[in-house]
Amino acid sequence: MDCIGENNRTACACTYESCNKRGKCCECVSYHRNKNQLPGCFFTKEGERTYDRSFQFFAKDRKLC
Ligand code: SF4
Repeated sequence: MDCIGENNRTACACTYESCNKRGKCCECVSYHRNKNQLPGCFFTKEGERTYDRSFQFFAKDRKLC
């Protein structure tokens, strides 16, 4: 899978449609990692829509704690 490509954009699970990083997975990961967050595709469908990308919310969303 390429880091940047139309296929990635089509497969992207993030619902933040106006983000300029959609389909650019390497930029998306880097952006969120630098903020101690995870990309939207790590979350459940419902969790993704909250736009809370924090590690804490990820653990709660995935019922890890
Ligand atoms: S997860 Fe964040 S950086 Fe990635 S496409 Fe969605 S809003 Fe943009």
